[in-house]
Amino acid sequence: MTVNKFIRKLLNLKGLFVADFSFRFRARELHLWVKPHKNGSLCPHCKRRGRIIRTMDKPRIWRDLPVCGWSVFLWYHPREVFCPVHRRVQEDIPWADAYARITYRFEYALLVYCQLMAQKAASKILHIPKSTVSDLLHRTIMRIRDGHRIRGLKCIGIDEISYAKGHKYATVVYDLDRPCVVWVGPGKGRETIDDFFTAQLSTYQRKQIKWACCDMSQAYIGAIEEHCPNAQLVLDRFHIAKALNEALDEVRKEQWRNASGDQRKTLKGLRWLLFKHSSNRSKKDSRILNALGKANRRIHRAWVLKDEFEQFWQYQALWAAKRFLKGWMTTALKSRLEPIRKFVETLRRNLHRILPFIETRLTNAPAEGLNRIIRMTKNRASGYRTLDAFSDMIFLTVGDVDIPAQIPAKFRSI
Ligand SMILES: [Zn+2]
Repeated sequence: MTVNKFIRKLLNLKGLFVADFSFRFRARELHLWVKPHKNGSLCPHCKRRGRIIRTMDKPRIWRDLPVCGWSVFLWYHPREVFCPVHRRVQEDIPWADAYARITYRFEYALLVYCQLMAQKAASKILHIPKSTVSDLLHRTIMRIRDGHRIRGLKCIGIDEISYAKGHKYATVVYDLDRPCVVWVGPGKGRETIDDFFTAQLSTYQRKQIKWACCDMSQAYIGAIEEHCPNAQLVLDRFHIAKALNEALDEVRKEQWRNASGDQRKTLKGLRWLLFKHSSNRSKKDSRILNALGKANRRIHRAWVLKDEFEQFWQYQALWAAKRFLKGWMTTALKSRLEPIRKFVETLRRNLHRILPFIETRLTNAPAEGLNRIIRMTKNRASGYRTLDAFSDMIFLTVGDVDIPAQIPAKFRSI
């Protein structure tokens, strides 16, 4: 084995030939002068061999994976070739994408590392500044997702998610069947979601959507009902439960405000206890809550209503669920608790969007699982300043395209 071959095997250089090398000791850089091996002078569009017209004066430089503490750079003078179809073009570079300044395998490493760890950690391993990491990541993901169309969307979920301190929101659209994220847009209003339906989906695709799940925000409900004529909208059960919990909390706060010092003692530490689902309540919790019947009737009444409402999700038959809900709403209205009454009104308005749950059992739960991953990457980065950075990470971790798998197979090694 010649030394040259040994180096090529060691550095795992595929499709290229090392003509010369130099070390820059102070910067700890290794510079390799390379040539395409057996696959030079190809047209980048049709991959046919073309006649060489000239060699570029200026060399191009690509950053490659670092080796044992050395940053590695590839140098090459690309040639201009003549293709019968595409005329004068710069030859295809086998180890990197057309306009990229990093090699395919560097791109692959960047994508995989950023999936697994904070960008700051990836920047240390790859010997590049952190700002460059997010920049290169954005470019690579944009290139790979360029021209990508959403496919086979039947069951969508829509939710909002915050990505920076100071209440910056993005709207995220999920494919609940697969489950993955298909789209991320700025803001949480009607315009944002309209933009998704009109710009991302064709009329045919909008008609193909059979089920949709979202929270009680009027913007999302309105948009789904306008754009998806065949979709059965089901309001997400967790968001409904949350709304009821908030109403219960309103009652508690109101009582707290009006209570005297002595009464406050009995109301202390109630908040999380009241929210607890009946299935994970301890005996002690139940004792405290039952004692509440004497201490504060209004909170107790609100809590009993909330507890009873949980039963609704257990029903299997539509007629029984309907009967239960009617009965519950009547009792709730009689309770004379203003926040609960408001909740009942919302319920009544959305009855035809809540009852389908009984038959479809559709929830945003798969989306919640994805949101957990999104939150994890967000915490790792301690928030994102721009929506671009945020959506890059979403597409990389829970997107509908497996992004690292789009890099040519022979360069997928780290
Ligand atoms: Zn060509």
